[in-house]
Amino acid sequence: MALIVQKYGGTSVGSVERIQAVAQRVYKTVKAGNSLVVVVSAMGKTTDGLVKLANEISSNPNRREMDMLLSTGEQVTIALLSMALQELGQPAISMTGAQVGIVTEAEHSRARILHIETTRLTRHINAGKVVVVAGFQGTSNAGEMEITTLGRGGSDTSAVAIAAALQANFCEIYTDVPGILTTDPRLVAEAQLMDAITCDEMLELASLGAKVLHPRAVEIARNYGVPLVVRSSWTDAPGTWVTSAKPQGRSLINLEIARPVDAVEFDTDQAKVALLRVPDKPGVAARLFGEICRQKIDVDLIIQSVHEGNSNDIAFTVTAPILKRAEAVAAAIAPALRSPSNPKSDEAEVMVEHNIAKVSIAGAGMIGRPGVAAKMFATLAEAGVNIQMISTSEVKVSCVVDATECDRAVNALRSAFEIEAGGQGAGGRGEAGEAGEAEGAGEDKLILLSPSLPSTDAINRVSLYSSAVRGVALDLNQARLAIRQLPDRPGMAAKLFGLLAQHNISVDMIIQSQRCRVIDGVPRRDIAFTVSRIDGESAKEMLTQVAAELGWGEVVLDSAIAKVSIVGAGMVGQPGVAAKMFGALAEHQINIQMIATSEIKISCVVAQEQGVKALQVIHAAFGLAGSEKFVVPA
Ligand code: ADP
Ligand code: ASP
Ligand code: MG
Repeated sequence: MALIVQKYGGTSVGSVERIQAVAQRVYKTVKAGNSLVVVVSAMGKTTDGLVKLANEISSNPNRREMDMLLSTGEQVTIALLSMALQELGQPAISMTGAQVGIVTEAEHSRARILHIETTRLTRHINAGKVVVVAGFQGTSNAGEMEITTLGRGGSDTSAVAIAAALQANFCEIYTDVPGILTTDPRLVAEAQLMDAITCDEMLELASLGAKVLHPRAVEIARNYGVPLVVRSSWTDAPGTWVTSAKPQGRSLINLEIARPVDAVEFDTDQAKVALLRVPDKPGVAARLFGEICRQKIDVDLIIQSVHEGNSNDIAFTVTAPILKRAEAVAAAIAPALRSPSNPKSDEAEVMVEHNIAKVSIAGAGMIGRPGVAAKMFATLAEAGVNIQMISTSEVKVSCVVDATECDRAVNALRSAFEIEAGGQGAGGRGEAGEAGEAEGAGEDKLILLSPSLPSTDAINRVSLYSSAVRGVALDLNQARLAIRQLPDRPGMAAKLFGLLAQHNISVDMIIQSQRCRVIDGVPRRDIAFTVSRIDGESAKEMLTQVAAELGWGEVVLDSAIAKVSIVGAGMVGQPGVAAKMFGALAEHQINIQMIATSEIKISCVVAQEQGVKALQVIHAAFGLAGSEKFVVPA
């Protein structure tokens, strides 16, 4: 007998018939000898409808009242599902987040879960009842009791958190697709179903736009080792397992906020090659990385930044021993990128940097918490370390710094994030903290936590790691901000991202330009980054207001962008992956405005109207399309 948490999303409970079908499934699961907590979303598009009503009354509705309003959607479903179960003769009881004791921060509309009372839940379960819990909501106890919500899509997070708190055997997320697919089947009907995916990969996919799982749900599953499966509520097919490494035995207090960073990592075996002032037109990145791939040169980080005028800088890092070869490729390509009319111009200049190191903080708790990266930058600034390149992913922030400053940077970060010093690897690489022993990108460390569960038999371990790229995601809700002429000295990134964090604005891709210009005796660089579209205008306004005081130039906002990303733990050490992605975009005349990579993802910013096309051509280029077409239920 197992204790199972099941979650049913909006479409799965979208009508009386659907609620009755869910009741049947729940009833069958109980009859098979299991205990059940069921978490539900609001019916169909109820939440969207409530948001629309609020917007008809106010363009900027009060966030407390919004939570009061939106939390009603789930309350309808819990009552109806309990009644449907009782009609089948199954004892059931509905409970709101407050009744369960899902305690959150006092932050309306995006509250994080602090802890979950299990007494009342357990008492009802032991009495043989199915407990039906309202997803997406909680209660804050700071001062007076208030109803909070977790953020759109947050019922997944409620379910996984309840599973963690109850130490359930597993958590099943029932939705309107058969599981996690290589991309959104609404955009590519031939997307293929995956048997399993690692938490790290899913964290990236979810945060880069795949809405099938709320990223914070994946974060909790990873931190607490909750076995998680995504399945269709229409069929009995096994779905997709989200696998995590061994749980770290964390405390259930401050569940979502306890520990944002698990490890500090460093690598001193790095060198950087940059091509400055290359033309801003389709095909440039494809050409460069196509050749890099043909020469079998493995690159680590790649960044491309936007600039005034119509030229870009592209930079990448390699391990020190292959720097010469990488430089030679860049030098060989450069002349072809110069305008034929003016071959002696300063276009496509090759710049090489030998003595650099990469220092990173890693951990699943950074999602939606802009303060974590800001704290890293501030720590480096306090230690007098200048940041040359920044690469961000959902689970890692890496900074390229001068090699001589690596030790100082690592020590400062360890003490700032309270990470014990750990083992030192060979070749100038090392890590400190728990994540080092947890899931390493690219390594086959699949551990199924409940191998005896029926559906896990269906997992095909061969197919799981056969493809370097596992999924493609599109995010149409981002905006790009560029700050011109930011003084190049320690502390600027800390100031900038500290300010954004204070305003609770999460930053995604961050790219500092490679070219440096001296203006008024101060070396300066441009910096560009992406934020959620809803934060774009206010971020621009805020950063413009402080421009004179902090000594930077114009702040430019572009809201008409799309971010398309590929994700896969197997990309490490496969130079052809980036080349293939850039090549697919070039072939379809799609210009790349920005590039940012981490070990397990590559993201490109393109013009908004080309977003869907970009996703489709990349999905096809990696051969991810299957022969079957998916039809998502209406
Ligand atoms: P629910 O209401 O059940 O929570 P959501 O609408 O939040 O469902 O999430 C399911 C949707 O996620 C699917 O209908 C699909 O359009 C979308 N989706 C985006 N990317 C993916 C992906 N990689 N795999 C599966 N579904 C995806
Ligand atoms: N009903 C909420 C929403 O639509 C939460 C959820 O469905 O996960 O965002
Ligand atoms: Mg959802």
